[in-house]
Amino acid sequence: MLYDNLAVNDQGHLTIAGIDACDLAATYGTPLYVLDEDRVREKCRTYVEAMGAYFAEGSMPLFASKTLSFRGIYPVVQSEGMGADVVSAGEIATALSAGFPAERMYFHGSNKTDAEIAYGVEQGVGQFVVDNVDELETLAREAKAHGITQKVLLRVTVGLDPHTLAAINTGKVDSQFGVPIETGQALAFVRQAIATENIEVLGYHSHIGSQIFDASSFCDQVDRLLAFACDVRDELSFVAGTFNLGGGFAVPYVEDDPKVDIAANIAAIAEHLSAGCAAAGYPVPRILMEPGRSIVADSGVTLYSAGRIKTIEGYRSYVMVDGGMTDNPRYALYKSAYTVLNASHADAPADFTCTIAGRCCESGDRIAEDISIAKPAHGDVIAVLSTGAYNFAMSSNYNRVLRPALVMLSGGEARLAVRRQTIDDLLALEL
Ligand SMILES: *Cc1c(COP(=O)(O)O)cnc(C)c1O
Repeated sequence: MLYDNLAVNDQGHLTIAGIDACDLAATYGTPLYVLDEDRVREKCRTYVEAMGAYFAEGSMPLFASKTLSFRGIYPVVQSEGMGADVVSAGEIATALSAGFPAERMYFHGSNKTDAEIAYGVEQGVGQFVVDNVDELETLAREAKAHGITQKVLLRVTVGLDPHTLAAINTGKVDSQFGVPIETGQALAFVRQAIATENIEVLGYHSHIGSQIFDASSFCDQVDRLLAFACDVRDELSFVAGTFNLGGGFAVPYVEDDPKVDIAANIAAIAEHLSAGCAAAGYPVPRILMEPGRSIVADSGVTLYSAGRIKTIEGYRSYVMVDGGMTDNPRYALYKSAYTVLNASHADAPADFTCTIAGRCCESGDRIAEDISIAKPAHGDVIAVLSTGAYNFAMSSNYNRVLRPALVMLSGGEARLAVRRQTIDDLLALEL
């Protein structure tokens, strides 16, 4: 099994955190998002402990809300000692409604609306990650109107793309996020920000990408942030004490993907940072990271019911499930690979090659192509692994398909955290 929380019971059913997937499907219906809360907690702890052990005091991970924002996740990440990054008034309100403290939120976004900036300040969001000069000016006005000094990080682009050659330093200068170092604009951004009333600059943020398998890209990022911080120190006599490295560590989606040792990578980044700071005579900054995928992706499983099964002679077989791109658009968007199992016959040989298709009127509505599973019958439960991140969060009502329910598993018990959408919900907004 891809993950150690998955097993097969004596009925031949897949179990998730010890709970029978077919029982979950029968109790809560399908499609169903299942999230192993205990496993999410382990992931949080790995970050909190490693960052506490290897980085300077005050360093901590922030959960990247965009991967999976619903009320039930916030008490989990909060109780494990994480902050949260939020990207919209909706994410802020969701976290607040679950009791997550505003001062532990970091408000991101390249195009926060003026209303959202006002809302964030009113709610007492701890830090804004300011993306650009225009936002800085709006935020300063809003902070002044509220009589506060708003703590901020400034988002810069270091010119790195972890999925191409790290040496190509123009790769990611052209981005709608942040202000580039290379063009000199980031230095001007800092100059303006530190001179702005009602704004207190704590440091810099940069995010280099996602699905990163090792520390080397982060070490390159640290080098560039540190070089920039030294330039700012020399030019402006301003020493930033916080670097936020963004998110990005990978999870395995299929058996061949490498497994990432988060703690070892954090230790390697910390060592690299300390050496760089010693060489530059720069005080070691506090580090923030914003893991999303690596906190929740591999704790999530989606359960479907197999519907029609169709073989196009001479071509391929299709297993059609009762969800698809509406609950998981990642295959349609990126051709993302997934591991699929027949949860009703998890002990049978996976010898039926097929394509898993959804139910939308869209030939791109697929979850996986040409994979092998135990041949399903109509009604068998089909499990798709590693769906905890960017699935629920990106779900839609395309074709007016209703959004699934979400159950959380903890201590051997399941509890409903998000109920299934109903037709009444669907029509509720329409006059
Ligand atoms: C997407 C994103 C993250 C989370 O990335 P993961 O790959 O899910 O860990 C963190 N920070 C920022 C700014 C992002 O855009």
